[in-house]
Formats: sequence, C-alpha cells, structure tokens
Amino acid sequence: VKASEYLERLADSLAKLPGVGKRSAERMAYRLVSEPHGLLAELAQALQEAGAQVRFCPQCGCIMTAGEALCRLCADAGRDQDVVCVVEDPIDILTIEKSGGFHGRYHALMGKISPMQGSGPDDIRLHILFERIEREHFKEIILALNTNVESDATAAYIGEALKNRGIRVSRLAFGLPVGSGIAYADPLTLARALKGRQEV
Ligand SMILES: [Zn+2]
Repeated sequence: VKASEYLERLADSLAKLPGVGKRSAERMAYRLVSEPHGLLAELAQALQEAGAQVRFCPQCGCIMTAGEALCRLCADAGRDQDVVCVVEDPIDILTIEKSGGFHGRYHALMGKISPMQGSGPDDIRLHILFERIEREHFKEIILALNTNVESDATAAYIGEALKNRGIRVSRLAFGLPVGSGIAYADPLTLARALKGRQEV
C-alpha cells in the first residue's frame, strides 16, 4: 500500500544521499513529517539557504559563501605559497585542514580520470591546476588522492604532465586500505601521511 505519494517522493530523494538505503530513507521521511517540533520546516529552510549561499571557490574549488571572490583559504596571505595540495573532492580539503599537517594552498579536481565513467583529463579541474602552476610558481605539488585504480591513473597523469618542469611532485604515503579515501582518514593518519609523502 502507498501511504502517500508525497511521502514516497521524499523518501526517494533521501535515498539518493550517500550511505542511505531505501529502508532508512523511508524511516527518515516518516520521521520528518511526523516530528512535532518543525524539523521538516527547519530542514527545508536549511536546504534552501545552502542552495542559495554555498558556492565553490573559482580558484581552488573549496566550499565558500556566495558573494565572496575567493574562499578563505585562498584569500589567506599567511599560508605557504610554495606548495599546493591536490585533492579529488572539496570535502577532502576540510579533512586535511583538521589534521593540521598542511599550511599551503589547495586545489580540488572535482573528480578523477575515470575512463569507465567517461571522465577524461578535460572533465576535471586539471586545466585550472596547470594554469595555477604557471601563474603561482609552486615548488611542490602534493597529490592527496584516494587509493584506487582511477586515482592512481590520475596521479600518474599529473606526474607525467609535470615531468621536467622543476617542480617536486609527491604523493601521500598512505597507511589506508586500498579503495578507501581521504574522507575516511583520521587526522593523525593524515598528518603522518603528509609528513611521509613520497616523490612520484
Ligand atoms: Zn579557494
């Protein structure tokens, strides 16, 4: 029996979120509409505001607020200008910041090279990275990518493209199992991986 097509539609949307299965999406939807303290309205407002106010930094790709020219990390003149840390996802920047092991610049690729998913070098923010390298004269590029076949291919591509350019290209020394990523690393492991980075 279908209780309500509206409830069902809400559950279908929730089920698209990472880590949410069909059953828990249904429970969440029911909880939202039956909660007496206005959780649904609160969530609706937060969703609307996030949609209107959250933007991605045009330079590094990190999350910022609408109306700002650059994110706070890019705008901070006190950070190390010589080194840039390349990540796949903007959320990884926040994870690395929490580790306290890095004080340079960031660059989020917004993906990785994945022929299986039809994503080539031109489909991620690689050209912006190469433009920044020309303009900002980094001395070192740290690849803080995840540990899987596509991330390895992306790291190899970047390493090849920057060969003989006088820039040190290194990759995190990961103590993480294959298939896991930056997002699942604890701050201590990340700080250690940054310190033990190896040239590619
Ligand atoms: Zn930025």
